[in-house]
Amino acid sequence: MAQNRKERVSKGMKGILTVVSGFAGAGKGTIMNTLIRDYPGYALSVSATSRRPREGEKEGVNYFFKTREEFEEMIKNDEFLEHAEYVGNYYGTPRAFVEKKLNEGLNVLLEIEIQGAMQIKKAFPDSLLVFIMPPSAAILKERLTNRGTESPEVIDKRMHRAVAESEGIENYDFIVINDEVDKCTETLHNIILSAAYQPVRQKEFIEQVRHDLKEM
Ligand code: 5GP
Repeated sequence: MAQNRKERVSKGMKGILTVVSGFAGAGKGTIMNTLIRDYPGYALSVSATSRRPREGEKEGVNYFFKTREEFEEMIKNDEFLEHAEYVGNYYGTPRAFVEKKLNEGLNVLLEIEIQGAMQIKKAFPDSLLVFIMPPSAAILKERLTNRGTESPEVIDKRMHRAVAESEGIENYDFIVINDEVDKCTETLHNIILSAAYQPVRQKEFIEQVRHDLKEM
């Protein structure tokens, strides 16, 4: 994989922008952290949010925590690749980091919800959209409750939100079922590696060969 990245960089190829979505409690965060830890060639984007930090969350690691006013100022200054409101709070992807890492040939991961994912697909048609599914609805509810960081009202809101989000899953390129973290992470990694070979992500190379063929 490190070799792949070197090849991509030497050919001037950009990394793949991968959006990972999934219902709250589906285990996206764990999968992302495992992917970054166990496989080379990735960069994880840190989002900005107007929600308050949960216990143990760190500024600049989990999120850049902003007031609503600060967030709105950032929107005005066009500092986000995408942004959305989710359960009463703003969330957004800072533009500069993502563009820099993609240019360095790294595969950039965005862990964002579905409205943001659709904005990314529109702005970057060659981005890759992956939806992490829980093995079942019952297991999702159990995970959300066992997390113990949210009030019953918020858990309820997130379950309702999951119902709405489930309507949009067909817009994603792949689903991955999170029954076991290491297996799910490996599947996600393999999907991203394979996606690099889809024609939509090899446009420049295809054009080059086409051009050269005509010249011969
Ligand atoms: P949480 O409050 O549980 O950390 O995140 C709530 C939801 O917001 C999750 O679905 C998460 O993926 C999503 N999210 C996190 N960062 C961003 C972002 O930058 N943009 C968008 N659109 N959604 C985000």
